[in-house]
Amino acid sequence: MIPDYSTPGSKGTPWKRQREISLGKSIREEVQFKTDFFRENVNNTHLTEEEKRDIEILLRALHDDSHWHKGILSFGDDSIGDKVVLSEERKSYLELFVERHLLPENEEDRDDDLVKEIQAVRVLGEYKKGTIILYINNIKDSANETNAPGFYDLPYLTVTRYVYLHELMHAYFVRKENKGYKYDREREEAFAEFGALLLLDRLVRTNHRINHASKEELEWAIRHVEGKRGALECYSRGANLFKRLGQDEELASKMLAAYPKLSFPDLV
Ligand SMILES: [Zn+2]
Repeated sequence: MIPDYSTPGSKGTPWKRQREISLGKSIREEVQFKTDFFRENVNNTHLTEEEKRDIEILLRALHDDSHWHKGILSFGDDSIGDKVVLSEERKSYLELFVERHLLPENEEDRDDDLVKEIQAVRVLGEYKKGTIILYINNIKDSANETNAPGFYDLPYLTVTRYVYLHELMHAYFVRKENKGYKYDREREEAFAEFGALLLLDRLVRTNHRINHASKEELEWAIRHVEGKRGALECYSRGANLFKRLGQDEELASKMLAAYPKLSFPDLV
């Protein structure tokens, strides 16, 4: 079980106010992590009470205690990444490609090798209509198979955190000021990985309370992104971007803020 530093310590103090005190700042209710929304959904899963609690603490801290990413993400008064659901569906990239019309409508026109390839790859997360979906069974399988290092000895939380950061980047790209932008897979997935690695790197360097992350976690995440090949090649370009530009956090942050208005065609 992971410790919850944002839970109220003393009795008699309203929970929300106590939490504001414990985080050392005031978070307006409308931009807080949507805890009730999360709980309502998570209660319909087969996760243990401890797993539900650990995931909630991890995500709530990442979202609400957001000063760690100050300067990397800037989105004014919007709240992004505040709505999260967990899905037990074992979704594959084949289903995702079909949904996103990335394959011919007619099944007979599809490339068999490509279909086989993407059918074997799990979808770990998705950003859909303002909500981040985390495919928790796929995340657990991936944590085992890729030997993810354990956050408090729980590798699935390491993967959960990275997937959340990746989906948070999608939410960032479609924030209010980029209204009208249409998903451009090749570029957006590379930039989402780039941003997620940059955020994780910042977490490793700030090593902040509940969010503390290790160097091993960043190394695992880079390997995870680099491992996306074939039909998912565009994702792995995010690791290249991070290796080339990640050291210059200011420049990297400006690029992420400018995307998708500027799409840097020479880089991705
Ligand atoms: Zn993505």
